[in-house]
Amino acid sequence: MSDHAPVPGRFYPESGPGFVTLDVAALVDNNVHDLLELLGSDEFFEDFISVACAEPVGEHDGSAPDRLAFEELKDRLVERLAIRVAMTARQAVAIGSRVLELGAELDGIAAAAEAGETVTRPGCPLAGRHVPGVPCDDRCDEKAAALNNLRAILARQNGRQA
Ligand SMILES: [Zn+2]
Repeated sequence: MSDHAPVPGRFYPESGPGFVTLDVAALVDNNVHDLLELLGSDEFFEDFISVACAEPVGEHDGSAPDRLAFEELKDRLVERLAIRVAMTARQAVAIGSRVLELGAELDGIAAAAEAGETVTRPGCPLAGRHVPGVPCDDRCDEKAAALNNLRAILARQNGRQA
């Protein structure tokens, strides 16, 4: 395990389809910076060039000579890079709360989907008018607009008939 100092910074929790993700750009930025410096250093430069210029032997089961050198170099570099992020207490509470919130929301959606219920997105214009089992997604906006157009047409026709 790397004993490199944890990287301080801001780490943003987000929610995507099926997963809660944490944006760790500060960690990646720090590590790419360190990696480029390490590759250019006397300690790693020759090994890096040797691996980069090795003729592939055609076998990639991890035991081919070029793969072994690659894996060894990779392991030595990983040893020198940060693997942890550092948060202040306040950041930990804020990020932890947000991760909990996103995780619970995602878990609720997953549980409802398993139960065959239609979950309504926050702000969906069709809230309360979904056909059971039809997913609530961006198409709800189009359907709501189409319904409003239809309503307007019907209202005009009713106005003419009256
Ligand atoms: Zn909807």
